[in-house]
Amino acid sequence: MKFPDRLPIPPEVLKIAQQLEKAGYETWCVGGAIRDNLLGLENHDFDLTTAAPPEELLRLFKRTVPVGIEHGTVAVLDAHNRPHEVTTFRRDIKTDGRHAVVEFGVSLMDDLARRDFTINAIAYHPGRHEWRDPFKGVDDLERRLIRSVGDPNWRFQEDYLRILRALRFSARFEFRIHGHTLDAAKANVQGLAQLSAERVREEWFKGIATAKRVSKLLALWLDVGAARIWLPEIREKGDGRREKGALDKLSRDPVLITAYLATDPASLLTRLKCSNKEIERGRAIGAWRDKYPDPKSLPEVRRWLSQVGEHVDDLLALPPVRTAPFSLLPKVVSSILAAKDPLTLQDLAVDGNDLIAAGVRAGPDVGDVLQRLLAEVLEDPKRNTKGYLLSRV
Ligand code: ATP
Ligand code: MG
Repeated sequence: MKFPDRLPIPPEVLKIAQQLEKAGYETWCVGGAIRDNLLGLENHDFDLTTAAPPEELLRLFKRTVPVGIEHGTVAVLDAHNRPHEVTTFRRDIKTDGRHAVVEFGVSLMDDLARRDFTINAIAYHPGRHEWRDPFKGVDDLERRLIRSVGDPNWRFQEDYLRILRALRFSARFEFRIHGHTLDAAKANVQGLAQLSAERVREEWFKGIATAKRVSKLLALWLDVGAARIWLPEIREKGDGRREKGALDKLSRDPVLITAYLATDPASLLTRLKCSNKEIERGRAIGAWRDKYPDPKSLPEVRRWLSQVGEHVDDLLALPPVRTAPFSLLPKVVSSILAAKDPLTLQDLAVDGNDLIAAGVRAGPDVGDVLQRLLAEVLEDPKRNTKGYLLSRV
């Protein structure tokens, strides 16, 4: 592959680079946007790497966000308040598999050498239109290869997250992982256990969002052994519930997909430190995914809606609803919702006070009676009148 003569650098990014160069600091475009543009994919999110030390960045640009200042990363805000990441040339001098102690005042070559994969270690000078590609990333782009910069064993041991990044990029671009890099990923997979749940979750979710096919991403996580460590509720063969191809047709909602794949979604989402709301979504998916109502029975569908509540959309998004007999379900549900049929205690034409006034003893009896009235109304919504319901009390 040949380098193009010029890359279309957005004017806001160019302006930041020029300001740094004018102050005497060499500044290059690097990272994902370079890689994506060379692949012909749109990406305007150019990261800059510069000789300017962090304190100079804060001094030269009035509007910044110190997104990772200890690692030399500052987001510079442009006139539209859009952030552009600028990172000081750095080298990792001490690593423990999770964090790095970094050193500034190094060269562009050192900075490129600390990057994870060859395709992510290409630099372009936006003013001089020069390229630097010491690790032949452009050849790997052409060969469609994910390959570590330097010795893959060391590089994964410096930061085990790189193993998951390799899987993500491989599934996103449908690139093969180079033999030594893949071997090293497998050999070092146990190191993933030291990572924080937040970083792992972010990688897994990002992977789901960007993979060409989620089935490929999953196959990689299983093959390398990452799933065994972080997603043990996802089993190799599935559990019979999973049909071939269904996974790739699911909407790219990471919580939905994770829950769909897991035998015990709530346990998996808890391990990944998801929010309580997300864990509840998982729990509902696990509890209801094998219990769809018969779409031909309106009372059955109403009872189901009454119980699944806000989780109805998740359940309607799962594969069983794509085939008969449940493929009728979305229409039936829409018609019930459009008719505003009563589905919850709050929808009943009577409340607790009405029942007490009608002679029900205050206390648990009230709740019991309301539940029984709701059951009647779910059977036939026309029963939801004060007169009828009080006559039943
Ligand atoms: P995308 O943003 O599309 O996911 P990216 O390559 O831009 O992909 P970022 O996480 O934004 O990924 O990181 C920007 C660059 O920083 C990468 O291209 C890579 O050069 C470097 N980088 C990021 N994370 C690591 C890491 N864990 N180890 C080494 N280098 C990294
Ligand atoms: Mg990026």
